[in-house]
Amino acid sequence: MVQPDHVKEARDYARRELAGHERLLDSLPEAPLDVHRRFSETGLANWWLPKDVGGPGHSLEDGVRIVAEIAHADAGSAFTLFIPILTTSMVQWYAEPEVRERYLGRLAREHGAASTLGSEHEAGSELARISCTARREGGEWVVSGDKAFSTNTAFADFVVVIARAPDEPAGYVALLVPRETPGLVVEKRWDVIGLRSSATYQVALSGCRVPADHALRGSGLRLLEVGLNASRILIAATALGIARRARDLCLDYARTKQVKGAPLATNAVFASRLGQFEMQIDVMATQCLAAAREYDAICAGDDPAGDFMRLGCLKSAITTKMFCGQVGFQLVAQASEMLGGIGYTHDSAVGKLLRDVRFVSIVEGGDDVLRDLVYSRFVVPVSKRS
Ligand SMILES: Cc1cc2nc3c(=O)[nH]c(=O)nc-3n(C[C@H](O)[C@H](O)[C@H](O)COP(=O)(O)OP(=O)(O)OC[C@H]3O[C@@H](n4cnc5c(N)ncnc54)[C@H](O)[C@@H]3O)c2cc1C
Repeated sequence: MVQPDHVKEARDYARRELAGHERLLDSLPEAPLDVHRRFSETGLANWWLPKDVGGPGHSLEDGVRIVAEIAHADAGSAFTLFIPILTTSMVQWYAEPEVRERYLGRLAREHGAASTLGSEHEAGSELARISCTARREGGEWVVSGDKAFSTNTAFADFVVVIARAPDEPAGYVALLVPRETPGLVVEKRWDVIGLRSSATYQVALSGCRVPADHALRGSGLRLLEVGLNASRILIAATALGIARRARDLCLDYARTKQVKGAPLATNAVFASRLGQFEMQIDVMATQCLAAAREYDAICAGDDPAGDFMRLGCLKSAITTKMFCGQVGFQLVAQASEMLGGIGYTHDSAVGKLLRDVRFVSIVEGGDDVLRDLVYSRFVVPVSKRS
């Protein structure tokens, strides 16, 4: 099958810039990496930004294929490059037209980054308990509070802060805050166990002021739910790329390793495990693409902003992330065993893959939280539980 240009571009980038550099990418290198800046040479930087603001205008289905290619070489790079979609999709649909054009247009022109400040230590996944607070003062919003985790913030052009808004009917607001706003302080970078070429920070906001039109329309919590749809599907696609890489490591190893006088690749037990891998990878790919197409269909409708606001979390985005996280982790754990003692050393990339794939079942909702969400939204609504 002929690969579309964007898939070839992403694959060439991954092979040229990332493959073979595991040690550097896994070393918590200073962010942003030059190699991430050079992604713009592919013409795919922020590939989902709409054409009307000067972006490449790729679909989420394209995004699944791009992310899987990059994650095959390095999941942290994939995460760095796609996570702004969480932020920009909220801005794309719910910002005032002039604000949307200004910030997304600049991001498209300058190949910049954006980040979302949602999570807090105390509230955890009960986002309704966040304490970061925003209030109107004349023609401005003033926001203060601490945010536990946010990826790309140190080098972002702008962030979207999810805050409590006690004086507003919706109770919560999503505020677009330019990165250079006084009072926005990056306190530390987390020493994460995987995705170590990406950069996630703890951030403090104290009295950050933005103009009134920098508030996005609608409840901040609902907007975050909407934004998470695309990024959850792309997190799942990261697991797909990692799983393919683990399969390839096993195949390469089995071609050279001899067992009972024959290459391991010809051993029926080993081969059946690889057959199982292929089944799992195929279902992961099919599921990621199906979820992305459902998302793209909403985007292509008459009123995506209204439809997403009505729907909130898409079931397919949640279940795809859960499924790919669980199957991906299981697959990579088996791959580490199949590589024998080498699989337990840093001479093999499989240890990095194990640490990298773990994030899929944790970030943007751990599996227990998502099981509860699926149950309460799609199995038995809370109002109907006995
Ligand atoms: C690398 C990385 C990047 C990140 N990037 C960002 C970012 O850019 N922006 C951002 O806002 N956040 C970001 N995060 C935060 C991330 O999304 C959260 O850490 C994740 O959703 C888990 O939430 P939590 O840390 O609040 O833990 P919690 O959800 O509070 O979980 C703690 C424990 O409580 C359990 N638990 C919680 N609720 C339930 C429930 N309802 N039912 C059963 N058990 C439950 C969990 O299963 C878990 O065992 C990032 C985190 C990491 C590690």
